[in-house]
Amino acid sequence: MTGKTNSGKKRFSLQFKLTAAFLAFTLLLFSLIGIFVNFLLEKQFENYVIDKIAQRNSSIVSNLEARYTDWGGKWDAAGLENIGVNALGDSLMLRVSDADGTVLWDAMTHNSGMCATMLQDLAENMKGYNAGFTGGYEEKTFPVTVGQNIVGNVSIGYYGPYYYTDNDINFLNSLNQLLLIATLIAAAVSFVFGAIMAKRLSSPISRVIHTAGKIAQGKYDDRIHEKSNTTEIVELTQAINILAETLAKQEALRKRLTADVAHELRTPTANLQSHIEAMIDGVWELDAARLESCHEETVRISKLVSDLENLARFEADNLILKKEDFDLARLIFKIEKSFESDISHRNIHVTQDISARRLTADEDKIEQILVNLISNALKYTPEGGSIEIRTAETPAAIVISVKDSGIGISSEDLPYIFERFYRADKSRSRATGGSGIGLAIVKFLVEAHGGLVTVESKPGEGSEFTVMIPKEPLP
Ligand code: ADP
Repeated sequence: MTGKTNSGKKRFSLQFKLTAAFLAFTLLLFSLIGIFVNFLLEKQFENYVIDKIAQRNSSIVSNLEARYTDWGGKWDAAGLENIGVNALGDSLMLRVSDADGTVLWDAMTHNSGMCATMLQDLAENMKGYNAGFTGGYEEKTFPVTVGQNIVGNVSIGYYGPYYYTDNDINFLNSLNQLLLIATLIAAAVSFVFGAIMAKRLSSPISRVIHTAGKIAQGKYDDRIHEKSNTTEIVELTQAINILAETLAKQEALRKRLTADVAHELRTPTANLQSHIEAMIDGVWELDAARLESCHEETVRISKLVSDLENLARFEADNLILKKEDFDLARLIFKIEKSFESDISHRNIHVTQDISARRLTADEDKIEQILVNLISNALKYTPEGGSIEIRTAETPAAIVISVKDSGIGISSEDLPYIFERFYRADKSRSRATGGSGIGLAIVKFLVEAHGGLVTVESKPGEGSEFTVMIPKEPLP
């Protein structure tokens, strides 16, 4: 949760930042809502108080009118005093005069000290509640009418434009306190909620950091199983899991390749070493046949190295396929030409059945696929045999097949022939110079095109390799 200093710059954890952001946001939001609600309530209350003053004024006037009639159509000094003292209780100062303007009762003369204190208290109340409040003594005069006749006037004095009594101020203060408490409760709830949310967001990220750190150390077996309902987090954890898996597979492949290469090199180098040592020690005479055998071993080693180079080159190019539309028939013709001397030398009968003439794919890679398949067909077909190269088109793919009448492949070997360094018959392939990489390259290149390579074969009858390259790459 805490901050870290790195090269002078303070850094904070995601969890800390999210919690702080949540808290700040809620505090700001609730403060704004509080200020707004407070403003609205005060405005409403102010209007209510102003209305109340107006109602009291009119009820005083109508009371005076009613009492005038009760008193037999004349003013009664004791009755007026009663009304005036009551009004003082409501912080209103009355001055009643008759129709001629003679003052009959005046709150100021009745008790000027009390009136002054009352005005002073109200001024203090209002200033105490709102320091910027500007107000003072105000007076309104109303005629007292009985029937059609004005029988007198009443001036109502009060602290204006409006005033709050002690009760009003208590009510407003408790309202503000409630708003403050609500804001604090909301802030506390949002702090807890924010902290939980932040933890839920940051813990899978911490997990990703942990796993990425392990990957960096070359440990690929750690997987993230934490669940999350945030799309980006799910995608991030999936990406890390896939990365770890891919790296683990590549690491396994690399280890296997190293072991396979060591294994493949051991036999020819051991042979070479023992032959040369035997000749140095004089156990063997140094003659042309023995030198020839040493030479064969070196040729085998360099063939293996160049096959490996090829494989490495294609694997490195993995994703870079330069797909374009090209003349497949012309390519097949060109490859057949390159094997011409071997074909005629071994009296192999090659036929073509080209139904699909064009293909959209990486021409260089398709050439490599065909060279490997045709050279295998030639290698494993005895003199006088036949090879048939066919192309056809289906709605979804272009199909190329290379069929030979050669030695065939046993059903035990068939599942493995596309694996690196796998040779059905080691002694025979030693004679043919095969290293068991050709078909691995074919499979890799066909799959890079989103295609499929299959084989059908019967020992003694021949083999047929079929390559399907989809017209639209499979998703
Ligand atoms: P190699 O360089 O040994 O030919 P490949 O990967 O091309 O390596 O082939 C793997 C093995 O599959 C070969 O050693 C051989 O036993 C078998 N094979 C491949 N093509 C044919 C074929 N046309 N006829 C018979 N066997 C074949």
